Formats: sequence, C-alpha cells, structure tokens
Amino acid sequence: MTDAQTRLIAEAQRTLGPKSVLTDPADIAPWATDWRGRVHGSTPAILAPASAEEVAAIVRLAAEHRVPLVPQGGNTGMSAGATPPADGSALLLSLRRMNRIRSVSADDRLAVAEAGVILATLHDAAHAAGMRFPLTLGARGSCTIGGLTSTNAGGTQVLKFGTMRSLVAGVEAVLPDGSIHNGLSGLKKDNRGYSIDQLLIGAEGTLGVLTAVALRLVPAVAARAVAWAGVDDPASALELLRYLETRTAGIEGFELVPDDSLKLVLKHIPNTRPPLAGEHRWHVLMEATTTEAGVDVGAELEQLLSGALEQGIIADAVLASNEAQAEAFWKIRDSISEAERTEGQTLAHDISVAVAKMPRFIVEASEQVERAFPGVVASGFGHLGDGNIHFHVRAGSHAAPDWYEAEGAEITRFVDDLVTAAGGSISAEHGIGQLKRAEFARLADPARVHAIRAIKQALDPLGIMNPGKLIP
Ligand SMILES: Cc1cc2nc3c(=O)[nH]c(=O)nc-3n(C[C@H](O)[C@H](O)[C@H](O)COP(=O)(O)OP(=O)(O)OC[C@H]3O[C@@H](n4cnc5c(N)ncnc54)[C@H](O)[C@@H]3O)c2cc1C
Repeated sequence: MTDAQTRLIAEAQRTLGPKSVLTDPADIAPWATDWRGRVHGSTPAILAPASAEEVAAIVRLAAEHRVPLVPQGGNTGMSAGATPPADGSALLLSLRRMNRIRSVSADDRLAVAEAGVILATLHDAAHAAGMRFPLTLGARGSCTIGGLTSTNAGGTQVLKFGTMRSLVAGVEAVLPDGSIHNGLSGLKKDNRGYSIDQLLIGAEGTLGVLTAVALRLVPAVAARAVAWAGVDDPASALELLRYLETRTAGIEGFELVPDDSLKLVLKHIPNTRPPLAGEHRWHVLMEATTTEAGVDVGAELEQLLSGALEQGIIADAVLASNEAQAEAFWKIRDSISEAERTEGQTLAHDISVAVAKMPRFIVEASEQVERAFPGVVASGFGHLGDGNIHFHVRAGSHAAPDWYEAEGAEITRFVDDLVTAAGGSISAEHGIGQLKRAEFARLADPARVHAIRAIKQALDPLGIMNPGKLIP
C-alpha cells in the first residue's frame, strides 16, 4: 500500500466511519474479480459511502491524494469495468450502501433510485405503485441502477423500450472535482446545451460517480404471454418477428436461442426442461404484453403463431400455459451465460450489426470462425430484434486448459474484424471496460477516439476515475 493510499484510507475511515471502509482481504476478494472470473484485480480497500455528500468527500480526497477510484455496483458487468487494476493502485468505491428509492411517482411516471438500488427492487417498487420499470435482464437480482446506467445496459425488452439511455430522465453524480451535478428534476424538455446526464450514461465510471438516477416508468402490464418456437435458421426467426410486428404492437421481447445453448442450459442448470418435444436447430423465446385489462394477449399470440406455422415460417411453437411455465422459458434464456461458465472456456463477444444483416452474419461468421480455428464451437444468441447478439466461441472438448489465454485474443480479433467489416459495433450493450479496450483502440475511427480522449481530459484531468477502462 502506498503512503497516499494509507492517508486516504485513514481519512475515509474518519469521514465514513470505520465500518464503511473494508480492508480485510477476505471481505475484498469477491469484489476484486469480474463476474466471469477472468480478470483478477487487487485493492487495499473498499470504500462504501452512504450519501452523495460522502461520495463527494471521498472523490475530493482521491483527487487530493492522487489515488484513483473504481466505482462498483453489483459487479455483474461483462467487460471487467468494475474490476480494480491488478497492481493495487486504485481503491474500490462501492455504491451498494446507497440503496434507497427516493421516490416513485405514477403521476410523473418517474422513480428516483439511488445508485446502489438493485434492479429487482426497483421493479417491485414500481409495481407497488401500479407502474413498471421495463428494462430487465438476467442479472436483475444483483445488478444496480448505477451500474446499469453507467454501462447503458440493454437487456431483453429493448425492442420496445430502448436501452437505459431512453429510460434515464437524469442523473445525480459526483464529478471528478468533487462537485455534485443534480439532474434529477425529471424535465422532459431541457435544452440548456450539452447534456451532462447523457454524457454520464455509458461512461463506465470514467467521468464521475453516479449517486442517484431518475428513471422513466411505464404503465404496469395487465397480462403477458410468453411463447417458445422452433425455427430452421436465424433468417426465419427474423421473418417471424416482422410477421408478428405487422399484426400486433404487443411484442416486447424476442430472443434467439441456438440449440447448442439450449442443450448447455439443460445440461448444467437444474430444473430446466426443453419447451418443445422435437429437435430444432434454432429457437425463439418471445413475450407479448398488454396494459389493457380484459385483452387476451395469449389467445392473440397463439393465433399469430398458428398463422406463422401455416406459412412455414416456424416449425413448431408452444405458448406458456401459466406464469410458472413463462418463468421457466425465461429461465432458459437467462441461464445461458451461467451454463457456458459451467461448461468451460468461452470467449464472449457482445456485438451488433444492422438488424436485417444479422441472420446472415450469425451463420457466415460462425462458419468462418469454425473454419479458421478448428475445434471451436461458434454461435450467437440473444437480442435478434435489436441487431445485437452475444457471439460466443467455446473451446472444443480437446482444447488446452490455457486455450482462452493462448488463442482468445486472436479469435476475438478475427470476430471483431468481421463485425467491423459488416459496419457493426464490437460492444452493443456490455461496454468497453478492460476487456475490449485494446480492440476499441485498434478499430475505433480517429474522430471518435479524439473526442473521447478530449472529454476525459476536460472532466478528469488527474485521471482518478476508473483508470485503464474504456478510454482508448
Ligand atoms: C446473467 C447476466 C446477464 C446479463 N444480461 C445482460 C443483458 O441482457 N444486457 C446487458 O446490457 N447487460 C447484461 N449483463 C451485464 C450486467 O448485468 C450489466 O452490465 C449491468 O449494467 C452491470 O451492473 P452492475 O451494478 O453489476 O455494475 P458493475 O459491474 O458493478 O459496474 C459496471 C460498470 O459501471 C461502473 N459503475 C458501476 N456503478 C457506478 C456508479 N454508481 N457510478 C459510476 N460508475 C459506476 C463500473 O465502474 C463499471 O465500469 C448481464 C450480466 C449477467 C451476470
């Protein structure tokens, strides 16, 4: 530990109270490694303030002592953005104690939640007020509002409601000089120049620390219908989406699942069963909702799927007959990453291309990767309707234990080149963090790189906010 860190930690203990500063390596360990267990960081302390003023005091101390901070929420991020550097040079700033929902207003259709509020807790609070916060994803039981906003997270309902960027009405944040930006007014229209709030969304903790977020709510769902379909290929899946969208406005979730992913979930995740009796190379999980009481959204979806079956767009489909079955279908989709983690070495690529190009991209890129790197299994699952899939490459069964380290970078470069050639993005919803920084620097156009560096330099000239992340 450096002298500057020792002084900062002592002053933080006085400011926050000793219980809010963790220095026991056993308490720190779970938070110093990323969710996938790939990136191992090190830090002498976790600081856990409980208010925006306490965060501001810590940021001022960090600036004074030139000790960098790594903001952290639930540590479920997929790009190791919340993992401290391995050399122990930075302190973790945990927002998890800032977990109050300050307000929920059905009239304003807004909730104000502190950065450490868990997504599922916000869902419950909105529901209790007859409203809904529509963004959701597999990590909803542990990811936080601060992390979701800082990564501009997407999830499974982006098709209808957009990413966090469309759902955040404003933020409260401590900027790197220790000042507090208050953007929580919830104004729908506000054209006073640059939007500091929008700048901080997706900034991955490199421009400041979010302490609270104003979030847009939508009316609660009166009923939902969840169905699972078997299709021949990703092109049929997209055809199904377009077929449904021209006949109903209710579709809000549409997830592509390759059979390989389904089989992994069935193998590794307890209490999961195949939704359909037959075998299919590809599957689609879809959800339709209505906010109107009395509308039979299930009957409507069932009828539409019969039509799709008759037209040969799908090979088979089943409608969840109750909420438990609907949850069971979603559990399959939400468990794919977990199942892959259990199976073994996987290279994850969270990529996007234009929606219409995606079916072809999935098939051709998988073939090209498997040809170039014999033995690997490549496939894509996820948010087809958003043009965003998780293009994952798994080590074959005979791969060496160090396959990920030995071959990972080369395979990723290959995939990222294919994505770039297709006019896509190498990070659709998981951010850049540490894992994609080198590739971002390699592939981003100079104008983007210049602007990002200039903004970082202007707001954080001392470089104390989450160093080594995002900035190319
Ligand atoms: C099973 C599973 C499924 C997932 N599915 C999806 C999905 O469908 N879509 C999707 O987009 N993501 C998904 N994720 C990724 C992850 O849940 C999101 O990236 C989420 O936004 C991270 O939130 P967190 O609180 O865990 O943030 P962390 O992992 O703690 O941090 C993420 C980044 O945000 C910064 N940060 C955190 N809090 C703050 C703050 N208060 N102020 C400033 N910076 C901060 C960190 O420094 C880091 O750079 C999934 C993850 C898992 C484990």
